[in-house]
Amino acid sequence: MNDSDDFDEDYEPEAQLPGVLPHDRWMRLALDEARAAAAEDEVPVGAIVVAGGRVIASAHNQREQLADPTAHAEMIALTQAAAALGSWRLEGCVLYVTLEPCPMCAGAILQARVPIVVWGAADPKAGAVESLYKLFEDSRLNHRVDHVGHVLADECGRVLTEFFRGKRRGPGAGG
Ligand SMILES: [Zn+2]
Repeated sequence: MNDSDDFDEDYEPEAQLPGVLPHDRWMRLALDEARAAAAEDEVPVGAIVVAGGRVIASAHNQREQLADPTAHAEMIALTQAAAALGSWRLEGCVLYVTLEPCPMCAGAILQARVPIVVWGAADPKAGAVESLYKLFEDSRLNHRVDHVGHVLADECGRVLTEFFRGKRRGPGAGG
């Protein structure tokens, strides 16, 4: 699965990003969503989708409230964005998420043809962009996703650390 020989050595995601995107600014909005999740006793991960310089989707993890294993921040944000655009193709969109996407979310991002993903903290236990898998760069798939990681990583990670520290109970989730 993690066959690094398949990766294109010349592939430089950051070099392909158009100009200077205000990543920090948008990531702060995703962080606001993560904090909203914490306030609802959900694992604090937030995501937003930006298109044409404006936010068209804003969501946070709601797995507990919805009793839905697919209710990760990115999944909800993708659904919202598709509804806003009236299309499942999210071309021209940038997704910001406070935690490195898991395999499910990375798969959904690929399905939605999202061209650019900006993520915050790495997830060594479930990350499918850099940590465990590199799904966005897998040449066997018919779509690639440009991505920038570790944006406001300390802040994004701290929200999670503080949440689990505050819980002191079984960490029922990875992220
Ligand atoms: Zn996920």
